Amino acid sequence: MACEIKEKERIGTINPIFTCQPAGAQFASIGIKDCIGIVHGGQGCVMFVRLMFSQHYKESFELASSSVHEDGAVFGALDRVEKGVDVLLARYPHVKVVPIITTCSTEVIGDDIDGVIRKLNEGLLKEKYAGREVYLVPVHSPSFVGSMISGYDVAVRDFVKYFAAKSRNGESNGKLNLITGWVNPGDVKALKHLLRAMDIDATVLFEIEKFDSPMLPDGSAVSHGNTTVEDLRGTADAIGTVALNRYEGGKAAEWLQSEFGLPTIVGPTPIGIRNTDTFLRNLRTLTGKPIPASLVEERGVAIDALTDVTHMFLADKKVVIYGNPDLVIGLAEFCIDLEMKPVLLLMGDDNVNYKNDPRLLAMTEHVDWKMEVVTNADFWELEDRIKNGGLEVDLILGHSKGRFVAIDNAIPMVRVGFPTYDRAGMFRHPVLGYEGAIWLAEQMSNALFADMEYKKNKEWILNVW
Ligand code: SF4
Repeated sequence: MACEIKEKERIGTINPIFTCQPAGAQFASIGIKDCIGIVHGGQGCVMFVRLMFSQHYKESFELASSSVHEDGAVFGALDRVEKGVDVLLARYPHVKVVPIITTCSTEVIGDDIDGVIRKLNEGLLKEKYAGREVYLVPVHSPSFVGSMISGYDVAVRDFVKYFAAKSRNGESNGKLNLITGWVNPGDVKALKHLLRAMDIDATVLFEIEKFDSPMLPDGSAVSHGNTTVEDLRGTADAIGTVALNRYEGGKAAEWLQSEFGLPTIVGPTPIGIRNTDTFLRNLRTLTGKPIPASLVEERGVAIDALTDVTHMFLADKKVVIYGNPDLVIGLAEFCIDLEMKPVLLLMGDDNVNYKNDPRLLAMTEHVDWKMEVVTNADFWELEDRIKNGGLEVDLILGHSKGRFVAIDNAIPMVRVGFPTYDRAGMFRHPVLGYEGAIWLAEQMSNALFADMEYKKNKEWILNVW
């Protein structure tokens, strides 16, 4: 009995867990203020991604497509990028940042987006938009490599690379770069709360708190991130960088370290008590700011909440977790701390670094029950094990795309990750920090309670605990 890391053996994918690289690049782009990305490819590369964002956040986001058709796929479609930039700038006077995001088709035909950006900078922007602040940022995200995770990672690095610049006086701005990874507005709020409690001034990349946007009297209905060009530029003058996730923002953090020598810490994803403690210690190391008594008390409240449910209800429960890799690993670590037994972790892409991830390697050393980590996985890996392989599962943690595995097999499920659209308001709740630890443990407990009631399985315990 031990934990094994392996790749899915089948060729092909049945019900994928992730979508493709341009989706991640688009998610990064909507985190920037005054930015509308042009996805250079067929319309579907934007339409379905935009729909997922809207389904998850219940908001509307702006993204454009160069809308490549048959002629472009054969003869090249850079003319559509040129026209697209012009139309976008004319239609949206506030737009400053226009990433040109490639797709599978335009990478295969070899459209030179770096070249067309040079041409536009020298031509259209000087002639028609002279004096206007416009940045055209190339983002290469072919979909036949990686997944939405690597697409996000690459795009965050490319945005930082494009803008980051030392100020003339070369002085530090006293701020910390905090690269959040693919999170929810509730997580951003929870992180800001921790930063405020430690009196740390941070540049949050990308700041998406307003993806939970208010309905205001002016009728505005479009959500956008709040990371500005100045924020991105100032990342070079920061006192250091913390990237919460290894696979979503880690590349940008490493680049800032190698280019500007910034002290950098990547991970751990602050899910659960152990990882949140480490995160706060990392903040203290980089900023010199002490961890205040208020956070020690918050930690105590979280531990008390976990104690209420761990021994009686969570211990020994067999859990399957799938989704974004840092989220999956962080959740697995948290479940292990709660004496639960993760039996299957599914990573939806084939990143070769997973098998050397120190957090997973630690599991291979310490776990004493049968546990599998499957990379390049799909939902059939889960379904097949449950239906044909005798896998016993008490709880599933993952996003909404796996809901039918849970429904068909009557397994309780907690929705966590992206995209989650079949439960209300999930984006509002954090999974990060002490607050997130409480929310996760209570969600898992309540899912198990409902299951006990529906299946009449020791439901009387709920009367007496
Ligand atoms: S796989 Fe290719 S065509 Fe399909 S959405 Fe992704 S980039 Fe577009």
